[in-house]
This record gives sequence, structure tokens and C-alpha cells, in this order.
Amino acid sequence: MDFAYTEDQKMIAELAKDFAEKEIAPYVEEDEENHYYRREILTQMGELGLLGFNIPEEYGGNGLGWMEAVAALYEIAKVHTSWRLSISGNIWGPALTILEYGTEEQKQLYIPGLCSGEYAGSFAITEANSGSDVASMKMTAKDMGDHWLLNGSKMWISGGHTSDIGLVFAKTDPAASGSKGISCFIIDYNNTEGITRIPINKKVGMWSAPTSELVFEDARIPKQNLLGPLNKGFQICMWMLNNTRMGCATGSAALSAACLEGAAKYANERTQFGQPIGKFQMIQQQIAEMKLEDEAAKYLLFKAAWLKENKLPSQQATSMAKLAGCNAAVHGANLAMKIYGSYGYSDEYPCGRWLRDAKQFETLEGTSNIHMTIVAGIELGYQPDR
Ligand SMILES: Cc1cc2nc3c(=O)[nH]c(=O)nc-3n(C[C@H](O)[C@H](O)[C@H](O)COP(=O)(O)OP(=O)(O)OC[C@H]3O[C@@H](n4cnc5c(N)ncnc54)[C@H](O)[C@@H]3O)c2cc1C
Repeated sequence: MDFAYTEDQKMIAELAKDFAEKEIAPYVEEDEENHYYRREILTQMGELGLLGFNIPEEYGGNGLGWMEAVAALYEIAKVHTSWRLSISGNIWGPALTILEYGTEEQKQLYIPGLCSGEYAGSFAITEANSGSDVASMKMTAKDMGDHWLLNGSKMWISGGHTSDIGLVFAKTDPAASGSKGISCFIIDYNNTEGITRIPINKKVGMWSAPTSELVFEDARIPKQNLLGPLNKGFQICMWMLNNTRMGCATGSAALSAACLEGAAKYANERTQFGQPIGKFQMIQQQIAEMKLEDEAAKYLLFKAAWLKENKLPSQQATSMAKLAGCNAAVHGANLAMKIYGSYGYSDEYPCGRWLRDAKQFETLEGTSNIHMTIVAGIELGYQPDR
């Protein structure tokens, strides 16, 4: 096993770290307070080539793969977890899925803009009454001959009201049972009538990452915007989630690292009873627990990236990476707040943001229960690893 970054990976991680420290860090607390989504960060990332991962150069990509993408996103999310959505919302969601399932025309029309940051992307699966049970979605897309008519609503969509291009999943055969009869559509939000996008302004964390409800009322979608085969949307959705979940795995591992770094620094600076609190055995135990979980999460993250890079089955590894990252982030944020004492409970330090942001990972893109079901199901031979 080789744990060292290659020269390319080192370079891209340094570029992303430098970018995050110069362009994201100065605004973190201000944007957090104002619940502000700073769209220009996405544009700047595109200009620097930080959105082009996993996409061939002919479609505007940077020609680099999963390991480099994760190395870059890790540095960005470590500074502000809200920005973990940059690569997953633009690339691992819409761009990569269009690359895999799209026609040549769709690839040329949408992928370069998602890589350059001209477009912000999103993907909409969840509905008010259809969360973990994706197949139970009710939104419909009716074939009207020369166009599709979409009706229904989507809930909890990251970047739903700020994205330009998004993937939306809907029932094209409402009579079909279970996961059958679902299809995937590319939506050009700025040029489609009949879609109301409602910001969800109050949520526990991720205050600089917009979340939305989308209401489709006779939204007319061009015929050619069907992505992939008709009625194969569920398979497309699962394929996509196996990629986008890397955004959660990376974001949570990065958040865990931020908590650990912050807590270790504070433990060395803060003195009580005449010595740094880091000298107390109980603080050391907390730091050791954080380090153990943080390191394990990071290894599982890069193992999943490596499997993807080598086109090997990665679903179990991705779920494990997301679970380990989530547990490390939630536990790490909790311990960090304890180590910082009262200051951790104030807004002088980022402990509150860390804890709020960590909790997202227990729910999004498959709850922890769902990921444990995937890990166990594959281990027990009930489902293949993909
Ligand atoms: C901030 C935010 C951003 C989001 N962004 C997006 C997005 O961009 N696109 C999108 O499509 N969705 C998005 N979501 C939705 C998210 O993916 C769903 O909320 C998630 O899949 C869980 O669905 P649910 O909330 O309906 O929970 P439910 O499915 O109702 O689950 C409730 C509880 O029951 C448990 N449960 C359910 N089924 C089982 C089972 N079979 N076995 C064991 N336990 C089970 C769950 O683990 C959970 O604890 C976002 C959500 C949030 C909060």
C-alpha cells in the first residue's frame, strides 16, 4: 500500500488549499451569519480547473480522476463544509451522469458549462413523502409527443433555487410498480416555465449552502432532455448516488479533520490548573478518539476513491467511507465543543458550525441506517457490490 500523494495529487491539493484559504476562509463567518451562498466561489473554482475532475478535456474537464478530485475537495470542505457541494453538485451529480448516459449533443451542451462554473448544478430525487424509499416518488413526466410535461414537487434539494442545470427524476410510467417506470430529465432552470423554486431558509446547518423545494406545474421539458433510456431512471439514480455520496464522504472526513486540528491547537493553548489542558489524561483520551476515527475515515475515503479510479466495485466502500466520515465528524464536533469549554459554545470559535454541519451527514444521500443496510447487504451476499 502506498499512502503518499503523487506529484499531481500533491499539486492539486495545494492549489485547492491555497484557494480555500484565500477565497473561502475570509468569508466563512460572515456568510454563515447571513446564510449567504457566495456564487462567485463556484465560478472561481471553475476558472482554476477545480470543477473539471473525472471529465475528459474534450468536454471541458481537467483530465484528472477521483484521487485528485477527493484530494482537492477535502481541502475545500475542511475550510467550509458548505462548499463540499461544489464538486458533487456540479460534477459527480449532473456532469458525470450526463457523460455516462447522455447523447453527444447533451454532453456538449451541458458538461463544459458545469466544469467551467458558468452553470451551477443540482440533482432532485427526494420528495416530501419519498426519502429513503426513492422508488415511491410521485412526480410525473407525461409524454406529450413533442415534449414532456412535468408535475409534482421535490423537497430538500441542494442548490435547487440557485442552480442553472439540474437532473430531476420522475415517474414516466405511474402504473409501473416499485423502482420501475422512473426516468431522468435534464432541466434548464433559467429557460423553463412552470417551475417554482422556494428556498428553505431555516435549517440546522449548512447555512451557506442553499436548499430548496421545487414545484413543477405543467413544466414543459424538451423531448431531447430525457437522459438515458426511458424508465431506467432508478438505475441511473443509484449509479449517480454512488458517485455523489463521495461528496458526503469527503466533506465529513474533512470536517472531522478540522475539528481535530482545532481541538488539538486549543488544548495546547488553553491553560487550567497551571498547565495546558492537553496535559490532562481525559483531554488526551478525547484527542486520541478523534484522531483514531479521523484517520480511519480518511483511509476509507481514499480507498473508495482508489476503487472508483480503477473502475472496481465501490458501492460498499463508498457507504463505509460516508459512514466512517459521518461518525468521525459528529463525534469529533461533539468532542471539540467539549474541549473548547464555554468558548466552544460561543460564536468566537467554529464549534457550533462544525456540530451543525456534521449532523447533515447522518441524513443526506442515504441516512446512516440506509448505508449500514448497504454495507451489510453486500457483506451478506444479498446484493452485489457495484
Ligand atoms: C440539507 C439537505 C440537503 C439535501 N439535498 C438533497 C439533494 O440535493 N437532492 C435530493 O434529492 N435530496 C436531498 N436531500 C434529501 C435527503 O437525501 C433525504 O432527506 C434523505 O434521503 C432521507 O430521507 P427522509 O428525510 O425522507 O428520511 P426518511 O426516509 O423518512 O427516514 C426517516 C428515518 O427512518 C429511517 N429509515 C427509513 N427507511 C429505513 C430502512 N429501510 N431501514 C432502516 N431505517 C430506515 C432513516 O434512517 C431515518 O432515520 C437533502 C436533505 C437535506 C436535509
